Formats: sequence, C-alpha cells, structure tokens
Amino acid sequence: MDDKKIIIIGGGQASCQVAASLRQKKFTGDISILSSESYLPYQRPPLSKKYLSGELAAERLYLKPEKFYEEQNIEVILDSYVEEIDRKKSQLTFSKDKGHKNIEYDNLVIATGTEARLMAKENPNLQGIHYLRSIDDVEMIKSSLKGSKNMVIIGGGYIGLEVAAVANTLGLKVTVVEMASRILERVTSPTISSFYNSFHESRGVKILTNTSVQGINGDNRVSSVETSSGSIDADIVIVGIGVLPCQALAEDAGIKVDNGIVVDEFCKTSDDYIFSAGDCTLHPSHFYNKNIRLESVHNAIEQGKTVASSIIGEKVSYNQIPWFWSDQYELKLQIAGLNNDYDEYVVRGNLDENSFSVFYFKSGYMIASDCINSAQEHMMSRKFISEKTKIDIHRLQNKEISIKEVMS
Ligand SMILES: Cc1cc2nc3c(=O)[nH]c(=O)nc-3n(C[C@H](O)[C@H](O)[C@H](O)COP(=O)(O)OP(=O)(O)OC[C@H]3O[C@@H](n4cnc5c(N)ncnc54)[C@H](O)[C@@H]3O)c2cc1C
Repeated sequence: MDDKKIIIIGGGQASCQVAASLRQKKFTGDISILSSESYLPYQRPPLSKKYLSGELAAERLYLKPEKFYEEQNIEVILDSYVEEIDRKKSQLTFSKDKGHKNIEYDNLVIATGTEARLMAKENPNLQGIHYLRSIDDVEMIKSSLKGSKNMVIIGGGYIGLEVAAVANTLGLKVTVVEMASRILERVTSPTISSFYNSFHESRGVKILTNTSVQGINGDNRVSSVETSSGSIDADIVIVGIGVLPCQALAEDAGIKVDNGIVVDEFCKTSDDYIFSAGDCTLHPSHFYNKNIRLESVHNAIEQGKTVASSIIGEKVSYNQIPWFWSDQYELKLQIAGLNNDYDEYVVRGNLDENSFSVFYFKSGYMIASDCINSAQEHMMSRKFISEKTKIDIHRLQNKEISIKEVMS
C-alpha cells in the first residue's frame, strides 16, 4: 500500500489537508499536488477580510510553510493546470511551462474547489471590474482601489458584504446591489438579513434590494453601473454572485457529477480509485438526510481527512455538522448547520447590543444557528444539533439562563 502514488489536483485547503493527513497517518508513498495557481496552498477567508484591508501580510495566508512540504516529502507542482484524466491509463495530462505533461497515479484526489459565477452583462474589456477568489484577484482589487471613490458590489452574499465592510472602513462610498428582496436571502433568516442591512446602512453603505444590474458603463474603465433602480457612479465594481463547482475535469472523464462531484460518505467518487474533497463535492449528509455541497473551510478540512483515511484503508465516514463564519466590521458571525427548511426560530440576546443568536428548529429539534459575537452559543449549538438534544425554547430565549442549561 505504501508504495502507491497519490496525485492531488488543486492547491487549496482540501488538497493541503489530504497531503498532511496522509503523512500524519504514516503513509510513506509518493504524494504530488498539482495546482493551477502560482502559490503554495493558502487560506481564502482572509482574502475578503484582513488581507483585503491590509491588516494581514501575505505570508500569513499560507497553510504550511515551504519547508513543511520538503520535510514531509510532498511534491507541489505549481502553475500546472490539469486538462484531462485518462482513467483507463490512470494518467493525467497537465499544462506546464507552455507544454503538456503526463503523470500516472494509483489513487487520484480531485480537490478543484469552485470558480466564480460570471456576470452575463459584463464588458470584458472594462478595467475596474473584479471577482474575488484568489490572491491574484485581491492584488488586482488593491491596485484598483488606489484613487477609487465609488465602489459598487453586485450581490449581497457573505463575500460581497465582507468587501463592503472593508471598503467602507477604507473610506469608499459603497453601494450593494441585490436582486433578491433581502441580502443573504439564500443563506439566512429575515432577522439576520435585516440586522446586517441596518448595520451596514448605519455605517454609510447603501443597499439596494429588488434591484437588478442592466449593464456596466465606461470607456476604458468602469464609470457607472446601470440598474433597475437607476444609474450608480462606480470606479470599481466587485461581482459576488456565487460560485460554481469545478467539475468539468471529472465530468469529461465520465465520473458522476450533479452540482458537484458526487462522492459517498468515504469521499469516494463513482471511480473506486478516485476520491474528491472540498467545495467541489456533492456528498451525503446524514443529519439532513440529503446530498449537499458546501463552501466552507471546515468541510474542506474534514473531507480532506476522510480522503486520507480512505486511501490508507481506514473506513471512517464523513459525518459532520457544517459550520462557517463571516467577519464584517466588529461583528463575528458563526453559523452552524443548514437552516433551509426550519419551521420555527427563536432569538436569544439583544440585537441592539450586537451580540445575539438565532436558533432554527425543525419538528422540535435544533437544526441550525446563526450566532453574532456569541462564541459560546455557537459551540453549544453545534453540540445540540449533532446530539439532537431536546431544548426548552423558553429557557433558550432567556439570556439570564446559561446556554449550558437550556435542555428540556
Ligand atoms: C473570498 C473568500 C472568503 C471566504 N470566507 C470564508 C469564511 O469566512 N469561512 C469559511 O468557512 N469559508 C470561507 N470561504 C470558503 C473557503 O475558502 C472554501 O470553502 C475553501 O477554500 C475550499 O477549499 P477547497 O480546497 O475545496 O477549494 P479551493 O480553496 O478553492 O482550492 C481549489 C484549488 O484547485 C485549483 N484548481 C482548480 N481546477 C484545477 C485544475 N484543473 N488543475 C489544477 N488545479 C486546479 C484552484 O486553482 C485552487 O487552487 C471563502 C472563500 C473565498 C473565496
């Protein structure tokens, strides 16, 4: 087993975790990471937060220092875009230095993450329009920010709102344009949406809901955004309208995909020799009794560990409650579980104090929570959700009663 050759496609959180966990589990075979990016695996969350604001240095983004890969004998091949998987030959073709190369595998891991959903009405030649997924994107945004006064953010999701908070703090006039009737509509309750809407507006960010973008104007550089609510001056535009799983490589190779690369609870794809982890997977969730695709660091890390276990023959199934966070201004939001089909929710704490939690229930059981500046509530809710703890809702609503004593 230990003379196997493992190839990992992708240079992100999941890929780094697979390699590190394999070595932790004493796997001594060959490990190679093929990444289309020019950087060693790095964390993306700070890109729309402290890295964009300039508070975090680039070196702090890296998940592991260069010497880790040397010491652990993990080969990292950067600037290499994998173009094809030949399953019959157990071989990949990738582009490198303007040429094409082949590499063989015994086990393959696809950890290709997601890519930004592109906007249809965008003029590709206009300067000042940006997406935000990578270090390179942030570098371009930072240089575009110099001399800019008016920022328009298309999409009121977490990343768009994080950028709004940073840009507002840097002194730009920021407008968020959201097509839906409220920001964060896809991911959270009206209470949380309206809290964030008011908070941003109190800091001077303008939020336009029920507003669609009809075009972006400018000669060389963007000058305004045309919307269904009128024209907005803009010298920089950030498009944050969601992401799509990078699954074409798998699909072209005949591996099953369905809004993500379909894996089982051991992160195995429809090919017994090929595994997948992170944002690109559609995986079974025992808690929610359906297949889900997540975009979160926690999922990438845990699936990375699951893949490593599967490769070395340990049968450890992936069975995690999702969690995620978002930092905007001094607000730290921690999200546990999925709240899509709750039938009741309760608020604990005071919205005016910027420290409160919303707990979501289905058929009497907690299924999710959104906790703002309430770390203990977040931690306890993860436990309640995973252990299906019966909660006394009246005790939960009473902040005087410790969160540890709200069971019924
Ligand atoms: C701006 C931003 C802020 C975020 N904030 C948070 C947050 O606050 N909390 C949170 O939990 N999550 C956050 N996320 C999400 C989190 O970063 C992702 O869930 C996580 O990075 C997923 O890791 P991954 O390894 O699956 O994919 P990625 O990190 O996207 O890595 C995929 C890698 O695969 C490479 N690749 C793709 N195709 C190929 C190919 N054909 N050949 C070679 N390489 C390829 C890509 O270049 C990339 O390096 C944020 C993401 C972004 C972009």
